[in-house]
Amino acid sequence: MPYESMNLLEFQRRFNSEEACLKAIFDARWPKGFICVYCHHNDGIRMARRRTIQCCVCRRQVSITSGTVFHRSKVPLTTWFWLIYLMSQDKGGISTMRAAKLLGMHYTTVYNMMHKVRAAMQNRQENILLSGLVEVDDAFFGGRSRGKSDGRSVTRSKSA
Ligand SMILES: [Zn+2]
Repeated sequence: MPYESMNLLEFQRRFNSEEACLKAIFDARWPKGFICVYCHHNDGIRMARRRTIQCCVCRRQVSITSGTVFHRSKVPLTTWFWLIYLMSQDKGGISTMRAAKLLGMHYTTVYNMMHKVRAAMQNRQENILLSGLVEVDDAFFGGRSRGKSDGRSVTRSKSA
């Protein structure tokens, strides 16, 4: 269910933990199951209590959040998700001041986060990821095209 059609309580229930948010990012990034970004094999093991998956073939570790606005951020994913939810609720977009107040955060932090989200929507790869994740209004982020193709589609499905 897209964010914008979820009410507050549904949203709160669904994204109630870091793990729940991480799972949503994972599912948006790898809808058909994990694919190693290095060797393109589809077997990986989630590192316990971490945001990384280790490839069973090449042994390299892939961060679930790499290439997303959430990567290396100290802000909890639940907070990021709330911010994006707030941003998706109104075509005009929520003001930085208001978002900062609602989230109980510093203006500058929220300003930077909102900037990252908007910038991500302009980036093709990230846009596809965020579109799947947030389904925010087209008009808000400006003429992005809908579409799933990233020019390198993966047809293999998860074996295990
Ligand atoms: Zn690999």
